[in-house]
Amino acid sequence: MVYVNKICPVCGSEFFVLKNAEEKAVYCTLACLTEGQENLEQRVPCMGTA
Ligand SMILES: [Zn+2]
Repeated sequence: MVYVNKICPVCGSEFFVLKNAEEKAVYCTLACLTEGQENLEQRVPCMGTA
């Protein structure tokens, strides 16, 4: 199996994911995934009303 090195956009940690899952795995942990998605959801209405 091949692993690739990625950097979490939320906390900046390096982590490894299976190459098969590279596109899906953006965040290092579930907590970062949740935080990243919350940030995305918050940006949309802000940009819409600005
Ligand atoms: Zn992270």
